[in-house]
Formats: sequence, C-alpha cells, structure tokens
Amino acid sequence: MPEGPEIRRAADKVARRLVGGVLTSIKLPYPPISEFDGVLGDASVESVTSRGKALLMRFDNGLTLYSHSQLYGRWTVNRISTKVRWNRSLRAEFVSKGHAVRLWSATDVEVIPTKDEEAHPYIAKLGPDVLDETTSPDVIKNRLESPRFNGRSAASLMLDQSFVAGLGNYLRSEILHQAGVHPKTRPKDLDSENITKWGSLTKSISIRSYESNGLTVSDELAGERKEMGERRRSYRHSAFCRNGKDCHVCGATIIRIRVSGRRLDMCPKCQVES
Ligand SMILES: [Zn+2]
Repeated sequence: MPEGPEIRRAADKVARRLVGGVLTSIKLPYPPISEFDGVLGDASVESVTSRGKALLMRFDNGLTLYSHSQLYGRWTVNRISTKVRWNRSLRAEFVSKGHAVRLWSATDVEVIPTKDEEAHPYIAKLGPDVLDETTSPDVIKNRLESPRFNGRSAASLMLDQSFVAGLGNYLRSEILHQAGVHPKTRPKDLDSENITKWGSLTKSISIRSYESNGLTVSDELAGERKEMGERRRSYRHSAFCRNGKDCHVCGATIIRIRVSGRRLDMCPKCQVES
C-alpha cells in the first residue's frame, strides 16, 4: 500500500496539471460521486494535498474530492493523446492543459464540503502528518513521551495513524532499524537521547523518501548496493526487503518477522529489546 510519501508525491503530480488551469472535461463514472459531475466541472482546482494516506483535491466552489486509495487505488497523469489500456475501473477523470488526470480503482471516494474536511471520519482520527512542516522532530518526540503513547510497542505505534499520520510498513521497518529500536520496545523503556533519535529519524526518513521517490538510505549507499547487484526493492532501504542480506551498520543478517500479520524486517543485533 502506498504510504504518506507516495500519496504526497501523487498529490504534487496531480496539482501540477490541475491547479491554475481550466478543466476542459470531467468524468465521474463512480456512482457515489457521479452527481457532482456538473458542479465540479464548472469549478477549478485550488489545491491538491494529502493527509496521511488520503488525497484531498480542493475546488474553488467550496467542495473537496476526498479519496483514500487503500490497496489498489492509483492516480495517473497522461498526455491526453496517450491511449491508456488498463484493467482497472475509472473513478474520476479531469482534463486540463492537455493532460488527463485519472483516479482508478479506489473505493473510498467522496465529495465533501471543504469546511468539513477535519470532521471526516478518517481525517478526524489522524495525528499530525509526518510530512507537514509543523510536525517537527520535537513534536514527534513529545508524542513518544506522552502518557497516551509511551506504553505502546514501537511496532504498533509506527503504524498507528493517530500517533503520526503517513507512516506505513516500509517506513516502520526503516525508522526502527535506523533508530536501533526493537519492535517490542516501548518509548518508556528508552532514555531521552534514544527517544530524540527515534523522533528525529521518523521525520527525516519520511522526508527523504518523499524527496527521493522512495529511498530511505543515502544515494551513496543505494548506489553501492546497486553495483553489488541488489534490486531496487532492497537497495533503496536499510532493512525493509533486505531480509537475508547484511545490515549496513553491523554486518549481521537482516531477519523478517511478522507483527499482527504484517512483515517487519530488522537487524537482530542493532535492534535489541530494551
Ligand atoms: Zn545491524
């Protein structure tokens, strides 16, 4: 499933084609939103952003197209002349500036008043968005130390969207590996220095992934591992999908465990239970 950085990049890509342009055509074939065809067709797109794993397309008439892609939803942008052959269901199509912006397969798609965004059941439950400028490493550190979260296991916190929104499975493995935190460790088991490191890496690894289109290690390290024959799915990370390979830090073999049915890759030597 795409995580916060991927959704924010999709929002940026959609924004580049739609914001400030005139919509020359619009299609909303998905029944739950079809009735908005006319009202949205006459409006223009003011901004496109993401909150956690939801994408928000705001129109100048006070309406927002909310979508959560779940597992299969995808946004695509193509020149209008490109023939798209795809075995997915079209949910929405917006044409502007010679490009078609399309949403496919998402099942969670709604049109809501922009003023009610914060009250949307998904958004209302979100913690601060990891990519938001106001979500500083200190904000994350304070949440780790707060009584609400400090007794929870690291593995569960790193996927809890009410703790920090936008994290997902690969970011969880990457943050915990680079911070040297065992999945079962609770924030209250750690000293302030380790919490600071954990909070700061939660922010910086997420930003790194957003800016580099999915890398959670340095260009140098990724390049080195690519030359050694690793595929992108593993050379772009330090732990995730590197199970069976060596830890960059200590050389031990990265192992895969499952937490609540979801995979978590970690170093048994760097991430010792506290
Ligand atoms: Zn290690």
